[in-house]
Amino acid sequence: MLIKNAEIFAKLLLILFAFNQANVLDESKMLEILNKIYYQPYPEFSEKALYFRYPDFDNWKRPEGPIKIAIQIGHMIDKEPPLELQKVSKTGGVFGAIKEVEINKLIGFEIEKILKSKGYLVEILPAIIPQDYYADAFVSIHANSTDSDVSGFMISTPYKDYSGKANKLREAIIEEYLKFSGLEYIDKVTVNMTHYYAFNWSRYKRAIHPRTPAVIIEMGNIRNQKDLITLIIGYQKIAQGIASGIERFIKENY
Ligand SMILES: [Zn+2]
Repeated sequence: MLIKNAEIFAKLLLILFAFNQANVLDESKMLEILNKIYYQPYPEFSEKALYFRYPDFDNWKRPEGPIKIAIQIGHMIDKEPPLELQKVSKTGGVFGAIKEVEINKLIGFEIEKILKSKGYLVEILPAIIPQDYYADAFVSIHANSTDSDVSGFMISTPYKDYSGKANKLREAIIEEYLKFSGLEYIDKVTVNMTHYYAFNWSRYKRAIHPRTPAVIIEMGNIRNQKDLITLIIGYQKIAQGIASGIERFIKENY
């Protein structure tokens, strides 16, 4: 639940405090309630929102450890989503017996296999990610389900990128994906992509840390015959395209 109004938030705090004083709520119960709420009064992705949530943003240091690549498998839900993310679809697009999530899994685990075989640390993430999640590259994989005559892939960075690297990740993947997939690049993004919930630390607790270079890719259109065949029969080439793009980005930027 997102509360944007300071007055409502203050009232809520006072109510909780009063209940606590009256021994109706103990501290752990209070924290549990507060944990379900995200209070952030500023416009999404704004600098004010950034420093409100991350006052120390300028002094941020990358967590120690090897380069980490995160692959988020769109719509893969392993447990009941928290209150703020109840609306996340458990299947994604559906075309007959085919569910988007199954295609995302097929390709996501293949990307993991390829990158691990090259010695990279890869983390597979479900639809709901941890709070303030950091990785050196975060790629969320999805497949579109739009008009059947639309063929190709789309890729987007967050609405505003505070990592300074997201666009490089995007460009590297476009170039490699074009080579390996044989699918066309659609130079277009949607609000659902730029404001993707896992990017949107200004609205959701469970989102990437803004220093994480992130992209979301719609790998193809499951309602288009050519795309669907490529995604399923050619899943290894699709995965190779994304993996090569990520690898190039890592080599050129770290
Ligand atoms: Zn999706």
